[in-house]
Amino acid sequence: MEKMRLVVVGAAGRMGQMLVKAIAASDGATLAGALERPGSPALGRDAGEVAGLGALGVKIADDPLKALLDADGVIDFSVPAVTVEIAALAAQARIVHVIGTTGLSPSDLDKLEAAARHATLIRSGNMSLGVNLLAGLVKKVAATLGADWDIEILEMHHRMKVDAPSGTALLLGEAAAAGREVALSDVSVRQRDGHTGARKPGDIGFATLRGGSVVGDHSVIFAGAGERIELVHRAEDRSIFANGAVRAALWGRGQKPGIYAMADVLGL
Ligand code: NAP
Repeated sequence: MEKMRLVVVGAAGRMGQMLVKAIAASDGATLAGALERPGSPALGRDAGEVAGLGALGVKIADDPLKALLDADGVIDFSVPAVTVEIAALAAQARIVHVIGTTGLSPSDLDKLEAAARHATLIRSGNMSLGVNLLAGLVKKVAATLGADWDIEILEMHHRMKVDAPSGTALLLGEAAAAGREVALSDVSVRQRDGHTGARKPGDIGFATLRGGSVVGDHSVIFAGAGERIELVHRAEDRSIFANGAVRAALWGRGQKPGIYAMADVLGL
């Protein structure tokens, strides 16, 4: 089969550079385009050089329509407004759109649903194998333990991260809620400050730390009376997300339009 032609959105960003490297190292994919916002200082530069690989012959451009017309898929770790726009273009082009962007609002998600009538969307707040396995474990533990065990999710990320809680923390919260057969939106507590009163049974709490260069640490704490279980994942290198995203794109080729998760890609 011919190599899958992939476009990277936000190619000069932290994840974008990792994606360019992961595609260059992949047997099944080739870099077909690289996008940045209009006015970006990276426009016109070779995407491989920006990623520290040496020239790949793909210049960073700002016209998504043109780039997607010539591609089989697009990998996008950018910002919500851009992701929604790219999904609509992926639907027009009927290609695969892998979405790593976090912080999407309910109305953004509605727009992705609409795009998924024609595009194959694969979206996950965390594309790593380890975190997706952890989510499976969290669901199982939450289903096994009664609601008298309190669930708290703690995350830490680097100082540049703009959204909170992290997409991964929310993914783990969804897994815990699914294990308890409740909707996360009904039980999630996103912040505590001042006189909060006692913790409500069944709540799933989130706490956020920001600082330094931390790639991503997540702990899911099950706190019972007199004992505690803690499930922890530490990301040491962003390449785990980029490799997962390329794997997702390759898996998505030939799948029917719709919205898929990393659990589908990994067969979990
Ligand atoms: P980042 O370094 O800020 O990268 C985002 C890139 O998108 C920047 O280069 C930004 O350019 C670019 N961009 C902005 N507007 C654009 C447009 N109109 N067209 C094309 N590119 C545009 O951030 P990051 O750390 O790579 O993270 C990006 C996203 O991925 C975040 O939502 C983060 O939470 C998420 N993430 C997800 C996973 C996962 O596994 N799902 C893992 C890591 C990160 P400017 O800087 O010039 O605006």
